[in-house]
Amino acid sequence: MINPEATDGMLQEQAKWLRETLSGIGDAVITVDVTGAVVFLNSSAENLTGWTQADAAGVPLARVFEIVNEETLQPVENPAVRALRDGVVVGLANHTILIAKDAVRRLIEDSAAPLCGADGKISGVMLVFRDVTERRKHEERVRHSELRYRRLFETAKDGILILDADTGAIVDANPFMCGLLGYEHEEFLGRELWRFGMFGDIEASRLAYQELQERGYVRYEHLPLKTKAGRQVEVEFVSNVYWVGDRRVIQCNIRDITERSQLERTTQAQSQALADLHRRKDEFLAMLSHELRNPLAATSNAIQLLALPGAEDPVQQRALKMIERQVAHLTHLVDDLLEVSRISTGRIRLNRTSFDVHATVEQAVAVCRPLFDRLRHALTVSLPPEPIWIDADPTRLEQIIVNLLNNAAKYTDEGGRIWLTVESASGTSPSGVSASGELASGGREPPGISASGGTGEILIRVRDAGIGIAGDVLPRIFDMFAQADRSLERSEGGLGIGLCLVRRLVELHGGTVEAKSAGLGHGSEFTVRLPMQPPPAPSGACATPAAAAAKSKRVLVVDDNVDIADSTAMLLEKFGHEVRTAHTGPAALEVARSFLPELILMDIGLPGMNGYEVAQRIRLEPQFERVWLIAVTGYARATDVKLAEEAGFDSHLAKPIDIRRVQETLAALCR
Ligand code: ADP
Repeated sequence: MINPEATDGMLQEQAKWLRETLSGIGDAVITVDVTGAVVFLNSSAENLTGWTQADAAGVPLARVFEIVNEETLQPVENPAVRALRDGVVVGLANHTILIAKDAVRRLIEDSAAPLCGADGKISGVMLVFRDVTERRKHEERVRHSELRYRRLFETAKDGILILDADTGAIVDANPFMCGLLGYEHEEFLGRELWRFGMFGDIEASRLAYQELQERGYVRYEHLPLKTKAGRQVEVEFVSNVYWVGDRRVIQCNIRDITERSQLERTTQAQSQALADLHRRKDEFLAMLSHELRNPLAATSNAIQLLALPGAEDPVQQRALKMIERQVAHLTHLVDDLLEVSRISTGRIRLNRTSFDVHATVEQAVAVCRPLFDRLRHALTVSLPPEPIWIDADPTRLEQIIVNLLNNAAKYTDEGGRIWLTVESASGTSPSGVSASGELASGGREPPGISASGGTGEILIRVRDAGIGIAGDVLPRIFDMFAQADRSLERSEGGLGIGLCLVRRLVELHGGTVEAKSAGLGHGSEFTVRLPMQPPPAPSGACATPAAAAAKSKRVLVVDDNVDIADSTAMLLEKFGHEVRTAHTGPAALEVARSFLPELILMDIGLPGMNGYEVAQRIRLEPQFERVWLIAVTGYARATDVKLAEEAGFDSHLAKPIDIRRVQETLAALCR
């Protein structure tokens, strides 16, 4: 016998348990009775519909659960109605929008199942739904991102291959890759890289693959690939491994660099050819200037001979002056040519000594005087009365001033005005850099000399009221071969080397040089700044070598060029010296042993035995203990000078030799 009260209690108990369960689950749940009126809403359903249990109880479901189609926004059949009508479970429906009581719209997924009573009849329906707005947004984002990357993959102008990292087989290839190698997409699938010529063969491929596995990344600048038609293309290959879900894949990016490589090779070959040409040009210039020096040496000796007292005929005298000028000009050009190779190979060396710049400035002015006189220029020289000491190479300093003065004369119309100003400015030296001359020969004052005038800088200014320099030319005026408009009057034009040499020499001395001009027609000004030296303590020593006449000395002139040897000998004889000549190495030794010269002028390139060897042998023989050995070469390169010193030479002269220098040495020997 069933106790109705007990049964009732149990049912109530179960209903309570069911409500609590339904309230606790995450999904929203609404139950309705057979009439379609709402019986129960759990809290999720209350949140999503905006109805409370109290408000909704007994209200028709269609009002509490108002749904429309996501795309059409038309009402859709409520799944609960169908479940009630057909007695079936209605599965999850998509694309449904729930309009809440406060009109908020949410994308939901819903399903409904009929509820049966104890009699087996349908007593209601349970509707289950959830908010899928966020999930849909996320799915949308993923879809868009995939689309974007797919588009990148499809349209990339680099080849892309995706490989299965476990098998090494290709699983995808982009259209560019297909086009690059001429294969269909399907032909790539399932195959390995080496089959396309990448990495050569299966073994090379295995090694590359192993490297990739170990490092997770490989990059090859130049890899060969074979197209289906057998043509070779060159590619840059970058590959890396990454995880996609639980699978590892390899992505290979392949860039066609065939054209770029070709271009690189062409550029390389061109720059190599240019460098070769440049080198050959330098060698040619060095050789040319060297070769030109020999005929010049002989000619200039002959001129010096002719210029000695005796040749009185005025026509001859004029002709002589003309030859003298032209040879001087030619010598200057050849010297400049030789300097080109010295500058370009950094072989300029300095023979530094401490001296007062007055004598050097005067010497430079004297060198330029004939040109100034011929062009009727007025030169104003301003020098402070007190000595200005400098640690420099006097010959090179003279060259700097001569070049600037010559330019001022050349680029000023006849009868112009030029100013040379030398002044000292106290302060620190201009660059603070010590000069990088390679060899510092004798004549330097010992350190520790008292500095009464302090250090500062020497300013040497050459200003002219000449043709001036255009603004666009000014910044490159010190570059090698830089010249202004060639159509300008250039009767005295040079090779475009002078200023480059000036800058190089000034820098070697630790100084600076600058050019100023207000433009064409406004004249120019060149300012050289050099570090000044403290003056030496008075010692009575004469800093400037005396060019005093030497007493008669025995001189041996050795040169395989008979004209040079003979003309030099004749010149020295005119100065009262006793001279012998020799034209080969062995002959030089033989003559030296019998003649016992006090000074030997020795060419280096000699038949039989070169000048260095002759010098070494001479130094071994005691009777030559006091002989002064001068090396005479075409190239006065640092290596030549060093070799000469090592061979035992006392000094070094470049061809064509200036007989005054030899005289100076002879005068010094007398002292
Ligand atoms: P070069 O005189 O042999 O041409 P430089 O190197 O000495 O070579 O000078 C380079 C160029 O600078 C000259 O060709 C000339 O155009 C310009 N230049 C040099 N000095 C002056 C100056 N004092 N006035 C005007 N132009 C000058």
